[in-house]
Amino acid sequence: MNTDAAPALARARSGGAVPMAELHCHIEGAARPALVLELAERHGIDLGGIVRDGAYVWHDFTSFLAAYDRASLVFRDAADYCRLAEDHLTGLARAGAVYAEFFMSPDHAASAGVPGEAYLAGLAEGIRRAKTATGIEARMIAIGVRHLGADRVEAAARFAATHAVREPLLTGFGLAGDERIGTPRDFARAFDIARDAGLGLTAHAGEFDGAENVRETVEILRTSRIGHGVRAVEAPDVVRMLADKGIALEICPHSNLALGVCPDAASHPLRPLVEAGCRVTLNSDDPPFFATDLAAEYAFAASAGFGPGDRLGFTRNAIEAAFVDEATRQRLLQQLVVSAIALGAPSSSG
Ligand SMILES: [Zn+2]
Repeated sequence: MNTDAAPALARARSGGAVPMAELHCHIEGAARPALVLELAERHGIDLGGIVRDGAYVWHDFTSFLAAYDRASLVFRDAADYCRLAEDHLTGLARAGAVYAEFFMSPDHAASAGVPGEAYLAGLAEGIRRAKTATGIEARMIAIGVRHLGADRVEAAARFAATHAVREPLLTGFGLAGDERIGTPRDFARAFDIARDAGLGLTAHAGEFDGAENVRETVEILRTSRIGHGVRAVEAPDVVRMLADKGIALEICPHSNLALGVCPDAASHPLRPLVEAGCRVTLNSDDPPFFATDLAAEYAFAASAGFGPGDRLGFTRNAIEAAFVDEATRQRLLQQLVVSAIALGAPSSSG
């Protein structure tokens, strides 16, 4: 497959949509309800009513987590995870994405009875198949779940450090889970392990907790990116710090709206963060759970007044902040220059 023929670029050349890239998506949270139903039937698993009329059913944060965990349990072996990654990435490529990272959680796989090695191997095979079929480039970030405690997060970091040696598609380590539990200092050792292994670092912060947690996460865990970070907007000095350091923000507008982090689209801090000079990227988080996908996030930006050149800038920010080798990064950035010309959009805005 010649990646130059990737669907996104073809669309850009014909004057169509802006090529997209994504840094923040939880792979189990990307599972389409139809795929979850199919695997539940195959494995004889009762989903307990979490899928209705082709959509996930939940009504608050607790029931969202319960539905998410239940859906995760239908993936029972490497072949199921291969299917999940391939399905997710081919869908993204067809919608116009050229690059995607996703979070994988060894703790989630363990609770479904799947060893971390099989989980990783299945997802990696799915990435390779999707690339062969569509040209999309993708990488994985192993995450620790903070509400499981510092020891488990350290174990996830050791998993990432050990397995990244053999699996070049595993390039990052991150922190997820309930942000209100633990402080960045509790996870410093886990991040030291991952940093020493040469992994890219990111952490959820400034979603359910405030700006101070964003500051401490950057200062103590020394991440180059922040998952969400939208509540940084509550403290101008934290926003300035993010802009000065060039920390990439993995912003997930529809997730923020669905979980009540922002009351409505008009009050979403996407624009103030961009205008303050922050390095913003657009992401879907757990797309079918929030009735969204990456194209809908780019459409959200369009409806907030960001033109094609600005939206291409979000894609460029994502590729510049991606946990990917330099040769791949340069190739992807070069593709964006071609897209910018095709779109008639300036290549350095955003
Ligand atoms: Zn997330």
